[in-house]
Amino acid sequence: MWRGRPRPRKLLVMATDVQVAIRKVVSVNPATGKALREFEPATEQDVQAAVARARAAQPGWTEIGVPRRIAILRDFQRRLHGRKTDVAHVITNEAGKPLAEALLTEVMVVLDATRFCTESVYAFLREESVPHGNLAMKTKSGRMIREPYGVVGIISPWNYPFSIPATETLSALVTGNAVVLKPSEFTSLCALELAGLLHEAGVPEDVFQVLVGDGSTGSAMVAAEIDKLVFTGSAATGKRIAQAAAARLLPVVLELGGKDPMLVLDDADVEVASSGAVWGAFVNAGQACLSVERCYVHRSLYESFVEACVRKTKKLRVGNGTDPEIDVGPMIHERQLRIVESQLEEAVSRGARVLAGGSRLEKLGRNFFAPTVLVDVNHEMQIMREETFGPVLPIMPFENDEEAVRLANDSDYGLGASVWTRNLARGEAVAKRIQSGTVMVNDAVSCFGISEALHGGVKASGLGRTHGHFGLEEMVRVKYLDVDLLGGVKKSWWYGYGEKFTRQMEGVIDLMFSRRWGQRLRGALLTAGTFKLKGKL
Ligand code: NAD
Repeated sequence: MWRGRPRPRKLLVMATDVQVAIRKVVSVNPATGKALREFEPATEQDVQAAVARARAAQPGWTEIGVPRRIAILRDFQRRLHGRKTDVAHVITNEAGKPLAEALLTEVMVVLDATRFCTESVYAFLREESVPHGNLAMKTKSGRMIREPYGVVGIISPWNYPFSIPATETLSALVTGNAVVLKPSEFTSLCALELAGLLHEAGVPEDVFQVLVGDGSTGSAMVAAEIDKLVFTGSAATGKRIAQAAAARLLPVVLELGGKDPMLVLDDADVEVASSGAVWGAFVNAGQACLSVERCYVHRSLYESFVEACVRKTKKLRVGNGTDPEIDVGPMIHERQLRIVESQLEEAVSRGARVLAGGSRLEKLGRNFFAPTVLVDVNHEMQIMREETFGPVLPIMPFENDEEAVRLANDSDYGLGASVWTRNLARGEAVAKRIQSGTVMVNDAVSCFGISEALHGGVKASGLGRTHGHFGLEEMVRVKYLDVDLLGGVKKSWWYGYGEKFTRQMEGVIDLMFSRRWGQRLRGALLTAGTFKLKGKL
């Protein structure tokens, strides 16, 4: 495991007579601005060496078998449960979210993902028979086998710095892969916490390694000899990774950004839906891939809904996430705040109105931004089109369900969405028309906490899935194993072609596919003859 060696504060390397400063990875508490730890980023050589170690260790990890892997991962679960509060503090200190969210959306998600992986892996890895319908192939027995890829590279973001890499790691490990994880440069400590727990539980150090580093370490990972890459991050980085991966046909899962719409239909409960909107937009300070990023409300409910959202938003308590009375913590860093400010400025310059929040809360610290409610927005504005990834809830009215679906689908993204209604059948019908990887009826964001629920997007939100059965599928190669039950017999379709053979093949096709009985009968007679064709060559 790469823990990074602490170096003197100003590390300078002499390159001829020019001094070149080596970029460090510094973990910072976003609430206080205090540096928590400094790391030397893993270099290209470090990445290659780690991948080589993982490759050497992986066969042993597969060979210990499913029961032993399950036992080790259950031990990890037991240890994480025992240390849940400590782990939550590490997450809150490094990523800023309130302790309650660190427990609920990180620790609990990982405990449950361990349950799912350990409960499902037996059935998942069981060989599956592949029955044949083709008459000509009836002497064969087919099976599908799932095999681990080998070394899975994982590159993860900072917003769920424990649960995202952990859930992906667990599905890779349980199926027999070794993992090299490159966490976000902003949340290295959370990844090291995960590594500590896994290693203590018995996952060999080379089977799960953490490489602390930034984008350049990530690029080196994509170029290294990994067998599969699971990337979670922005669409911009995802596209760069897809290009690099294409050059060598590296299979990738891309979990990218979103612009999730929330549709409040005319029969929705305003009290419930407005609370859902405020939580869905501001959980993790709006920095969730499944955050409510744009809200559409039926005209008949619009005024009361907006009033309720503004009232509830103004009651939110913003501050350091370690204080249990806090609802919304800081944003991760200055760059993310500037994106929010620039989108808000652009929207206001085009006529949007801020009804709550709208600015930094500098008295609390440099990374705090007030939860913001915005109205008079439209799809000309960046705030309705580009991922904001901050505490902003823009609300727009619609006239009918048709228009709501059109607005929801008018986006480059398609990660999640939600529909709010008292009529569940209507909610499902509208949900099915929305172009996204997940649609929730009467809730938002929380599907990420359902270990069985597949997670992933369409359009610019990515490729492939994590979580659930499909998440396990991404960690294995499927192999088709075919056993001919008449091993001592030459096959009629081998060489020895000729006119008779050609007519007999026509007969086989007629027997199998003709809709005319006469033709099928003739086909059957010709097919019987094929058995005499064997052994010409
Ligand atoms: P990011 O794309 O900046 O970085 C993600 C990871 O990629 C980091 O570890 C980073 O160091 C690494 N990286 C950066 N450049 C790279 C390169 N050229 N090659 C390889 N790796 C590189 O994203 P972020 O700011 O860390 O995370 C926020 C984004 O992640 C948002 O867009 C959010 O929607 C998305 N996200 C998506 C999901 C999902 O499940 N779909 C979940 C969480 C976050």
